Amino acid sequence: MQEPIIDENTWLRVQELRKNKRRNTKTGKTSLFSGLTFCPDCGAKLHFCAAKSLKPNQEFYRCANYKDGRGSCKIHYIRNVVLEQIVQTAVSDLADFVRNYEAVFLYMLSRKTENEKKAELLAMRQRLTAAQSRITEIDRVISRLYEDNILGKISDERFAKMSSTYEAEQKALEAEVAEIEQKLRDADKACVDLRMLLKGLRDYTEVKELTPELVNTLIRRIEVHNSDRSSGKITVKVDIYFTAAGMIDLPTEKELEKLISEFQKEHSKATA
Ligand SMILES: [Zn+2]
Repeated sequence: MQEPIIDENTWLRVQELRKNKRRNTKTGKTSLFSGLTFCPDCGAKLHFCAAKSLKPNQEFYRCANYKDGRGSCKIHYIRNVVLEQIVQTAVSDLADFVRNYEAVFLYMLSRKTENEKKAELLAMRQRLTAAQSRITEIDRVISRLYEDNILGKISDERFAKMSSTYEAEQKALEAEVAEIEQKLRDADKACVDLRMLLKGLRDYTEVKELTPELVNTLIRRIEVHNSDRSSGKITVKVDIYFTAAGMIDLPTEKELEKLISEFQKEHSKATA
């Protein structure tokens, strides 16, 4: 028996992403990044412009709110080939880094999020248990009130007033429970996402090419800033948010040395 290459959760999630994100342009052309590109100034999607008259290396993105200069936002223009190059380099650099320093990479990510998340998750679970037991308790209280009302110990009016107060409290608690349960499910999804990212990076290392599936596995969001001419040259800043990891600044050699020694110190503490 062979281990499945991709677990079911991950597979379902990739399908869901593909369903949501793939959309053709009027000319039937698609971009690798459709559905993932956004304007950081106004939050709108960037439109992929691929008219029949454009050669493939002229296809470009621009902010949906630019509207040929009549809209509310700046152009946020970038050619598709340039964006592909930028994303390819970022993915390739990250894949190299993770291949060589996977433990350090995981350590970086965990330092970024784990401590605060662990405490937050614990608090959420405790709150969930407390809310659930209060909901059950209120059920008991209401049925006791009802008995007292039947036995004539409390008036109908009093009963109506008290039970409606308790029911309101119960309703609020139920809403809170649903919200916490959703957050806990999201936290579970974060683990699936990290596995997806690592698998996607390994796949990329093998094929050295970005496919739509790989892009959707690896990347959650791409933001293209408006061009900057202040240095005399035109530069465009692109922010790439990776699955599970968000924006990643790869460490310089010096920073890497420091990270490794911190990691080793904590690791030896953990195994001592
Ligand atoms: Zn915009």
